[in-house]
Amino acid sequence: MPLLTLDKLVVRYGEIEALHGLSMAVEAGEVVTLLGANGAGKSTTLRAISGLLKPAGGDIRFDGRSITTLGPEAIVRLGIAHVPEGRRLFPGLSTRENIMLGGASNRGRIAKSVLMKESDEMFDLFPDIRPFADALSWTLSGGQQQMVAVARGLMAKPRLLLLDEPSLGLAPVIVQKVFAIIGEIRRRGTTVLLVEQNARMALSVADRGYVLETGHLATSGRPAELWANDEVRAAYLGGRIEKAT
Ligand code: ATP
Repeated sequence: MPLLTLDKLVVRYGEIEALHGLSMAVEAGEVVTLLGANGAGKSTTLRAISGLLKPAGGDIRFDGRSITTLGPEAIVRLGIAHVPEGRRLFPGLSTRENIMLGGASNRGRIAKSVLMKESDEMFDLFPDIRPFADALSWTLSGGQQQMVAVARGLMAKPRLLLLDEPSLGLAPVIVQKVFAIIGEIRRRGTTVLLVEQNARMALSVADRGYVLETGHLATSGRPAELWANDEVRAAYLGGRIEKAT
């Protein structure tokens, strides 16, 4: 049984239908990437899974149970954490405070000493941000802020991590680091659903990919299968990428 199943998911913004019956699945332990052009519906899919948008039709199942009608707090408690596009940190709080909030808000009352210890563990995973533990988060670079956002999501101890465009606006060397961390997160046992514009990087860490086209599933498969499909490569994986060697 997949950890996450989307079954004919329909999501609307008022009159606009953004997802027209999307079906896909993520197995426990996988990194699955959701690719597609701007406006294809990738962020909408993540928002529906985490309960921020209520589907107009279809079903979302997590670990065999329907979560379609649950709110975001209940969904995060079941073990799904969402790292949204744009990081959304609290700029006036320190790096450590932002990270600790991920544990505090999602897991009820937890002693501050426990959150301190767990945030220290996050600095083991993200050594680049350890020197900035006490710095206000707005002073950090884009890449450092992205690491804080991912660390905050991991503080919820999720079984499934939803990552929306973690490479957005980052320099290539920083993108490499962020993707290396995604590999490490999987090695530690967390399943990842990754939305990306950077198809080359996403397919380099993913076990499988789904390609969305204006709210429909265009195709899906293992990275090698997606690369091998000329039409898919040209239409959905973008001209700015080269075939992986
Ligand atoms: P991007 O990479 O640009 O974020 P995406 O694949 O994540 O693209 P979505 O943001 O999910 O795409 O958008 C899917 C469709 O829903 C688009 O047509 C978009 O214009 C529309 N849409 C997204 N958010 C809203 C909103 N808040 N109100 C109305 N329409 C929206």
